[in-house]
Amino acid sequence: MVQLSNDCFAFGGKLMSVDEALRLIAARVQPIEGQDHLPLAECDNRVLLSPLHAPAPLPLFANSAVDGYALRSADLPQDNERTFPVTARVQAGAQAEPIKPGAAVRIFTGAPMPQGADTVFMQEDVRLEPDGRITAPAGLKPGANMRPAGEDIAEGAVAIPAGRRLRPQHVALAAALGLTHLTVRRRVRVAIFSTGNEVVEPGGPRNSAQLFDSNRFMLGALLRRLNCEVHDLGILRDDRAALATALEKAAGEHDLVLTSGGVSAGEEDHVRAAIESIGSLVLWSLAIKPGRPVAMGVIAGTPFIGLPGNPVASFVTFAYVVRPTILALLGALPEPLIGLPVRAAFSYKKKKGRREYVRASLHYADDGIPEAVKFPREGAGLLSSLADTDGIIELGEDAERVSPGEQVRFLAYPALL
Ligand code: AMP
Ligand code: MG
Repeated sequence: MVQLSNDCFAFGGKLMSVDEALRLIAARVQPIEGQDHLPLAECDNRVLLSPLHAPAPLPLFANSAVDGYALRSADLPQDNERTFPVTARVQAGAQAEPIKPGAAVRIFTGAPMPQGADTVFMQEDVRLEPDGRITAPAGLKPGANMRPAGEDIAEGAVAIPAGRRLRPQHVALAAALGLTHLTVRRRVRVAIFSTGNEVVEPGGPRNSAQLFDSNRFMLGALLRRLNCEVHDLGILRDDRAALATALEKAAGEHDLVLTSGGVSAGEEDHVRAAIESIGSLVLWSLAIKPGRPVAMGVIAGTPFIGLPGNPVASFVTFAYVVRPTILALLGALPEPLIGLPVRAAFSYKKKKGRREYVRASLHYADDGIPEAVKFPREGAGLLSSLADTDGIIELGEDAERVSPGEQVRFLAYPALL
């Protein structure tokens, strides 16, 4: 088990930019040890451990891309159309005999190219003569409508690099190469919990000053979408000794311990005191809104992250602090969150020097350009602002205002996972 040192999240500056946070996480958080050798059907959304070198070329053999007639490029009609005898027929899955000079072979999509043939006329482009021969026009390029062996991936080439988070298309690639299993990083084990006297279990008894815990369910769901193994520690009581015991045990059994709320400089901050009694904790004052400080700790070599309690701040800091930490624990290639340009259909003012995230819905405007409509209210506590929008608009540190019609960067929620 790779253990973090207690000072690994130390940061000298005052305000921390998102880019500095990402750099520090990438530099300090080491991949977990442990791997799983899994059948392909279980490999989606796992991280490939070492590069996959293609054991065969892809396609495996030269084949026709269309239904038509194969011939040798040496026989292609040059200036005038030309008539060819059709000497063989090859279906997908059948073996082909070598082609004879001056002949055409009836061929179907996916069927192997007869040896010597390298070009295919589409059946729509030839004329079938009453005697069974075909007449083909001049002008077809040598090699047309044929898929050479290895044109997709050459044998021995890196088909999937180490650290790639596998998507359905990577699983397909491995299958196409004839593999049945892949070796992937084991899943990251994350313990999540909530604290605070105001927080109670949904549906449970509450007094008039208490609220139902929602962050723990949001964080759990976000983590599961990142394919983490989530262990829910529930709501821990605000008791320093009890917290220290629970957190030390959690750190020993998990790769990451995550909470939200209650970790600030306040007097009632029992989580902070508990962690400082068994490890270390620093507050990262991220220069983002919504965001507030994020607590970064180390308990017995295991990272701890304390997100802000407000749901929107918790969500945004999850994307910019927890997600990259999980990817680093998985040894995954960086997957930067890149906002795509859309047109703002709103005006907005912001402070220079910090990054702001505006919740917005997306639609096509009448002229066909994607346009972002800002959620009408801005509070960091509004769950509906996350529930009723499609993503967040990232306004860079240097920006001070947005006017309708300007181009802004939009990140759809699914892209944050
Ligand atoms: P804090 O970060 O503790 O100052 O909390 C900021 C806000 O988030 C407060 O209104 C808390 O009541 C709220 N909050 C804290 N924890 C949770 C939670 N688990 N679920 C929902 N809201 C929370
Ligand atoms: Mg609190």
